[in-house]
Amino acid sequence: MFETYDPYGYSLESFLPYGMGALTTFLKQHNYYVEQEDLVIKFNYPNKASSITSIFKNNIDLDISGNIREIRSFFESGEIEGDLGSFLDKILNSIPMEGFNIIGFSIYTFYHFLFALMLSKRIKQKTGIPIVFGGPFINLYGCLYPDAFNSIDYMIVGDGRVPLLKLIDYLQGKTGISEIPNLIYKDNGKVATNPREYYPIEDIPIPDFEGLPMHLYKRPQFGYIYTTILPYQISRNCTGRCSFCNYKNVNRPIEFKSYDKVINELMQMKERYKSKRFYFCDDTINNSYEYLEGLCNLFIKHKLDIEWYVFAKVGNLDKHILKKMKMAGCQWLFFGVESGSDRILKMMNKGFTSEQAAATLKDSYEAGLQNCVYFIAGYLSETQEDINQTLKFIKKNRKYIHLIFIFEFSLEYGSEIYFNFEKHGITNLYPTPSRVIFAFDESGGLKWEQKHKQQEHSKRQIIRAMRIFRVFPLNWRMYLGILFRFIIVRVYRLRHII
Ligand code: SF4
Repeated sequence: MFETYDPYGYSLESFLPYGMGALTTFLKQHNYYVEQEDLVIKFNYPNKASSITSIFKNNIDLDISGNIREIRSFFESGEIEGDLGSFLDKILNSIPMEGFNIIGFSIYTFYHFLFALMLSKRIKQKTGIPIVFGGPFINLYGCLYPDAFNSIDYMIVGDGRVPLLKLIDYLQGKTGISEIPNLIYKDNGKVATNPREYYPIEDIPIPDFEGLPMHLYKRPQFGYIYTTILPYQISRNCTGRCSFCNYKNVNRPIEFKSYDKVINELMQMKERYKSKRFYFCDDTINNSYEYLEGLCNLFIKHKLDIEWYVFAKVGNLDKHILKKMKMAGCQWLFFGVESGSDRILKMMNKGFTSEQAAATLKDSYEAGLQNCVYFIAGYLSETQEDINQTLKFIKKNRKYIHLIFIFEFSLEYGSEIYFNFEKHGITNLYPTPSRVIFAFDESGGLKWEQKHKQQEHSKRQIIRAMRIFRVFPLNWRMYLGILFRFIIVRVYRLRHII
């Protein structure tokens, strides 16, 4: 099984692959032999083999830049040309594949998808082993790529444990293909989709990271110079209904793991992987105030002695719960504040005002937590006045913000805006090559080219404000971590060159 992570994703690059680890445990429990590889941690650190991201961002400065023409051509025609074939072979030759009955890729972003597609095409040409794609990207967007079946055999959407097991049964002739839930496949030249089933979060087993190069996951992160962050999921889904978010595409009731399961598994992981730092990969930790308080009480009662980092929503966090979270080991909270303009927040359906966001950041800071805040630049119909409100928000709350991330607004397939674009003041949607993101014209406003420029302008202003206000980063350990990482990467590369 291969995990393909976004080489540029700040958070994903150095995190252990939770989904693949849980699948590995599940298959082993059913007496199958499993080997797992994290291709990005293996090849991208420090060689940056997966620099496809940069090519599509027109930001080409990495090793594979000589292959741009071939990669673009592969995306358009599906043919692997020129040097690209030998580049992929180099990767494949280092991974033993003989004797395996099936190969799975867990995919997070479009760039992983493209890279995995190219590798799969090569694997098929060389070995003919059946290939299945799964993971968050396939769950949301797999249906947009029927032509992927020129390189692979199957896609699984949603929780892949039971479907993968049944797919293996099918390959052994024990069941029919129509009996495999959540499967997309090609049947007599047509793409077929089997009915969807859902499985409780409580049944997800503790992840098994055996075989992964654990030393490479020890990285400078969250202000620590050298540490391993263990991923763990406590709950599933989100009560939020943000217009730009495509999670509603898979909208389901909120699910929580039982307290016993969470406590036992965290203790086991801490012991097994010798790290007390966890990233809780939930959509948001505070879907239920009561559940969160009960969880923190147990972390404190059991003296779990762990440190954790998690996304949270502005809304139901008060001083009491924030102090309790700190006592229970919470270090960082990540908030999608998105804008300092109440008009934009309302359009986004965020469910809070800028004043409420400011109050939560202050309470969190006073409880001893560090706040990372996300902003979206160039949202629909954003004006200079809206941008000024965001700049004012950053300036006013700079004491309470430890880290900022800014993204230009992107209109994604599956979001509420996508389905009701006219309601959101959009006249035209234009698909981009990725098929996931759409360009658009604003009704009575900016055409896409102008809008794109406006987004860049908005982003630049926020970045400038961050520099001026010196919000990024306040934490001295973060400075040290970045410096340390810089030195290590340089030394590592030097060794490779020599
Ligand atoms: S709070 Fe986050 S996960 Fe929930 S709907 Fe909004 S953007 Fe999506």
